[in-house]
Amino acid sequence: MGGLASAEELVYGPVRSRRLGLSLGINILPANGKTCNFDCPYCQYGWTRVSPDGAKRWPTPEKIGSALSERLREAKLSRTRVERLTLAGRGEPTLHPQFPEIVNRLRAVRDRESPGTRLAILSNSSTADNPATRAALLALDERYMKLDAGDPITLRHVNDSPISCTRIVEALRTLPDIVIQTMFVSDPAGRMDNCGDIAVIPWTRAVARIAPRKVHLITIDQTPASSLIGPVSDVRLLEIANRVRQRGVAARAFLSDA
Ligand code: SF4
Repeated sequence: MGGLASAEELVYGPVRSRRLGLSLGINILPANGKTCNFDCPYCQYGWTRVSPDGAKRWPTPEKIGSALSERLREAKLSRTRVERLTLAGRGEPTLHPQFPEIVNRLRAVRDRESPGTRLAILSNSSTADNPATRAALLALDERYMKLDAGDPITLRHVNDSPISCTRIVEALRTLPDIVIQTMFVSDPAGRMDNCGDIAVIPWTRAVARIAPRKVHLITIDQTPASSLIGPVSDVRLLEIANRVRQRGVAARAFLSDA
């Protein structure tokens, strides 16, 4: 579901981010374009399009494992620090048809080449109620799960998700030890934003129901797919974070200048 800069290769970085530290990104999605079941107007990879030939060339678990192995060896030789291995990249990683097998392979490579390094995922949460996907998610050390809306209208505007809001919230509610990651966007025309009270009130309610370990509030810091939307002010992001804390959930706002 994006989130780490540039994902042209299977393994890229290390990328430094305020949320994840020094992270090697793992892009298990097909090389060309973006592969996602959401179509967020803020996506750094542009709008979701069907690939021109209709075919998806998914990288194999073997190829992904070898790419990670090689990169970790290089990092060891060059004494490059790597704090996390993060499944992210050009789309939604859990859509890979062999996602559970890939997670097993990545764990094995990590244990062999870099024991103790955290294995994380940035996911859009759309597959969190699939039993095989859930088991694979639980085999990772950290799960950063998207929840940008707590009501169906906002969900349609900010994610264009094919999965209902209720289904996403219920799946997240029963997935242990997660960090909710929410992208707040503003739209002067008020069509595609989720930062007004009309969206924040049901979203806060959904967050309280899920009771995650923490909530990360972020806003746009890359060029979005839609030129009609923009970032949310630091003041508003802090206000929303406070509302989450009032519900008894830990929250951190990542401000544009922090
Ligand atoms: S979930 Fe949204 S932001 Fe993430 S890759 Fe898909 S369309 Fe882009």
